[in-house]
Amino acid sequence: MGWSLKLGTIAGTEIRIHMTFVLLLVWIWFTHYQIGGAPAWEGVAFILSVFVCVVLHEFGHIAAARRFGIKTPDITLLPIGGVARLERNPSGPTEELLIAIAGPLVNIVIAALLLAVIGVVAGLEELARPQDPQIDFFVRLAGVNIFLVLFNMIPAFPMDGGRVLRAILAWRWSWDRATRVAATIGQGAAFVMGVAGLFYSPLLILVAIFVYLAAEAEAQSSELQAISGGVTVGDVMLTEFGVLQSDARLSEAAELLLATSQNEYPVVDGEGKFAGLLTRDGIIGAMKEGGPNALVRTVMRTDIPWVYEETGLGDSLRVMQTTGAPAAAVVSRSQHPVGIMNYETVGEMLMLRAAFHDFRFGMLRRSRAGSHG
Ligand SMILES: [Zn+2]
Repeated sequence: MGWSLKLGTIAGTEIRIHMTFVLLLVWIWFTHYQIGGAPAWEGVAFILSVFVCVVLHEFGHIAAARRFGIKTPDITLLPIGGVARLERNPSGPTEELLIAIAGPLVNIVIAALLLAVIGVVAGLEELARPQDPQIDFFVRLAGVNIFLVLFNMIPAFPMDGGRVLRAILAWRWSWDRATRVAATIGQGAAFVMGVAGLFYSPLLILVAIFVYLAAEAEAQSSELQAISGGVTVGDVMLTEFGVLQSDARLSEAAELLLATSQNEYPVVDGEGKFAGLLTRDGIIGAMKEGGPNALVRTVMRTDIPWVYEETGLGDSLRVMQTTGAPAAAVVSRSQHPVGIMNYETVGEMLMLRAAFHDFRFGMLRRSRAGSHG
């Protein structure tokens, strides 16, 4: 996600903060300062406490995911509470439900502890004004935690409520259908939120836009997964391709470029194992800079992911997306390249699948018409 800063790493999870989350913190500080009545350090302490509660919420998700063997490479803190990026999707509705609910549960525990420790029965009015420094610090912090629970349980992606809703729907329906319905409900909720924002807070409009786009992205990625379900890399990879030796010179790469219509060339080491990738543009760029005598090894891309033939298409696409690579090398168990997978080959497969589906549909109709004479 763009627009975010890396803060640090805790227990293997990178913590990033989105610029809009910074805006939220600045807004709390500003209204705090405007109303007055408390020293400035208290405003800062309050913001830091809110921040810690949001991070603890995310670590609730992370701990639950870890129980199911799913790692969390990073979390991004947004005004809507933060998004934890899981290494893989939960493998069923129950896993997803438990992971989604673990975050808000942390805030319920924090709020309950705060209210129990200070022994105050706070009024709703007091709990709902976190920006007012004249109200007790801990009452306000408890209020923020209750707010985080209510807000996150709004049934809209990427908020936890959206995931809980999908998990409940997925007990009855397919994952894809549950996602589509949950995404539609989420976009409806975002629309209501946006309208409410027009009257109450511009920040809410920003959140609504976020939620709307996130719901759309979620629906799209689930659709892709539904289409690619059961398809492996072996089904979509390019199997006829030229290979370059890592100690070859660029002039050889240029010859191969002219002789084939390939866009990506796997590079192999002395033992024939995959070592890197040269792209069409990469060859042309390197020719301009280093001339025809430069070694392939020095100009190839080494950040290219490799996958096995039997890897699922969905998993491979996710790897390509997270690394930002234009292609993935398909290798055998002994690391020898056996194919290339890029967005073009995947696109062709998806088109064929769509055509195949239409073809079947057409055949069915025709045979039914035939049977009626
Ligand atoms: Zn959450």
